[in-house]
Amino acid sequence: MNRNTLVDLKGISKSFRIADGRPRKVLDNVDFKLAENEIVALLGKSGSGKSTLLRIVAGLIPADSGSASYRGNPIHGPAAGISMVFQSFALFPWLTVQQNVELGLEAQGVGPEDRAQRAEAMLELIGLAGFGGALPRELSGGMRQRVGIARALVTNPDVLLMDEAFSALDVMTGETLRDEILELWADQRIPTKGMLIVSHNIEEAVMMADRIVILASDPGRIRCQYAVSLERPRDADTADLRQMVDEVYALMT
Ligand code: ADP
Ligand code: MG
Repeated sequence: MNRNTLVDLKGISKSFRIADGRPRKVLDNVDFKLAENEIVALLGKSGSGKSTLLRIVAGLIPADSGSASYRGNPIHGPAAGISMVFQSFALFPWLTVQQNVELGLEAQGVGPEDRAQRAEAMLELIGLAGFGGALPRELSGGMRQRVGIARALVTNPDVLLMDEAFSALDVMTGETLRDEILELWADQRIPTKGMLIVSHNIEEAVMMADRIVILASDPGRIRCQYAVSLERPRDADTADLRQMVDEVYALMT
């Protein structure tokens, strides 16, 4: 195995039973690798299996066939080096911001003092210093997603998975948060070695990713890949970026 491979999916297939009880194939024989130092965006129409693929990598659901591995070890259940950020934030409403962030560490058996310290440091890094005692409902959507991101990053994951992490936010808030994460990544202020993001927003994918993987629907399989050959930080208003967005759009339709 290549030393620099973080996630390796081989021949992944997955079906779900729909209302009438018949299985419907959502992913069909998907091969995919995420390497170190890479941000990959998974693009595809609604229902093409993007979230399903991400949940398999996160160890939240098993594939029906094929193999999924993280640094050469089979994925069966959530792995210590992989964290996920959800579109709907998935915070526990009855827990404070601090408690929500500490959860990931608790699951890993980190002691209370260490937990508190690491959660506080992460909240500060992600722009939530002083909000540890707040409840999620007291925060705006953008700040709630900051909590979701802090909870994912506090365990120092190698691999960060983001499923439509910005699409529940208004455009400005989403873009600000996206750019902040890219800055943390570029400055290596987070230890994350690779990111796999899901989006249905082509511009977001081109802004973030080094490589775009396009899923075709029914059943979801990889239609093609596209390399984004732009330096970071990227400016959404450049002709190069606009042209890439058009090219990816053409590949998707
Ligand atoms: P995407 O994220 O690309 O929109 P999903 O991976 O969420 O697509 O879903 C792909 C298909 O699988 C959809 O048709 C969805 O309804 C179906 N599906 C996803 N999860 C389940 C589930 N737990 N049970 C039944 N069907 C599911
Ligand atoms: Mg989805």
